Amino acid sequence: MNDLAAQDREVAGELAAALSRVLDRGRYVLGPEVSAFEQEFAAYCGTPHAVGLASGTDALALALAGVGVGPGDRVALVANAGGYGTAAVDSLGAMPVYADVDGESRLIDPTDLDRVLAATGARAVIVTHLYGALADMATVTGLAARHGVKVVEDCAQAHGAGRDGRRAGSFGDAAAFSFYPTKNLGALGDAGAVVTADPTIAERVTRLRQYGWDRKYRVALPHGRNSRLDELQAAVLRVKLTRLDAGNARRSALARRYGSAIAHPKVELPAVTGPDHVAHLYAVLTEDRAGLAAHLRAHGVASEAHFPIPDHRQPAVGDRYAGTSLPVTERLCRQVLSLPCHPGMSDADADRVADAVNCWGA
Ligand SMILES: *Cc1c(COP(=O)(O)O)cnc(C)c1O
Repeated sequence: MNDLAAQDREVAGELAAALSRVLDRGRYVLGPEVSAFEQEFAAYCGTPHAVGLASGTDALALALAGVGVGPGDRVALVANAGGYGTAAVDSLGAMPVYADVDGESRLIDPTDLDRVLAATGARAVIVTHLYGALADMATVTGLAARHGVKVVEDCAQAHGAGRDGRRAGSFGDAAAFSFYPTKNLGALGDAGAVVTADPTIAERVTRLRQYGWDRKYRVALPHGRNSRLDELQAAVLRVKLTRLDAGNARRSALARRYGSAIAHPKVELPAVTGPDHVAHLYAVLTEDRAGLAAHLRAHGVASEAHFPIPDHRQPAVGDRYAGTSLPVTERLCRQVLSLPCHPGMSDADADRVADAVNCWGA
């Protein structure tokens, strides 16, 4: 599904220089590399503030805490996005309430979100830009304003996705990014960030990432944690940020190539259009997912379901959501299968994948 070593080899010299800069300085946590990365990433997203964190899941949790979510609050979100939002909501002692997704976009369905916000009195909504596709933020932020609900964007799959001159992360009250190695912007380990235009939210997140301290050993906010970003990872991310747009362009080109090269009556392709889709994943739909995956494997092609189990049907939740029905989410989780789509692939690699799909069952 990925070839991270090949992608990193292209910037090996720059990465080595960045790492030795950190070693020479001897400062490893929350130092000048983190500050510089925060400024550069905020500028990239078009938001005044960025706060570096230890992971994307922490970024979701601290963004929610930053907009005022606390124990007992409800948070609306989708159930087809891998469970990260649910884990973040749970970690705050808040309660996830699920909206269904739209069958075309596979993103949050504004009509169902409207119903969920009215029914639950949720305090915030997480909008996940899944697979690299930017959600309809104009509609969602309009709805949220009407219900008096805060908006947190989950941009873990959408670094750089843009619309009308704005980028993912600049539409909501706050936004969470993951820099897990396979993401469009990936570190050499775990890392994340919150971006926001609101200085109060930025300050809250900055305190919460370090025990709630406003200064050393003074706890100004409750429910803080250790979610600091390493200098080594920040130095790596500064190098990789300069390649993000090129990597996104490559992913989008591969997705468009799949769109014209794959034609199979049992395989439904995603709509990948302009700069509002950075093709983090290329997820097709098929009623016989196991059959297609086995066929691809036999042709030396990797594939993976993102994601097979909807959050409200995970074994860990028991029967808490027994009364919750999300028909589109449940169908997509049964049918989605991601094909390889990463900047290390050549056109010939993509054509080989397309040929393998096209000859399924032939
Ligand atoms: C990867 C991912 C996350 C979580 O990020 P981590 O850094 O792994 O904690 C959150 N949301 C989505 C949609 C993701 O794909």
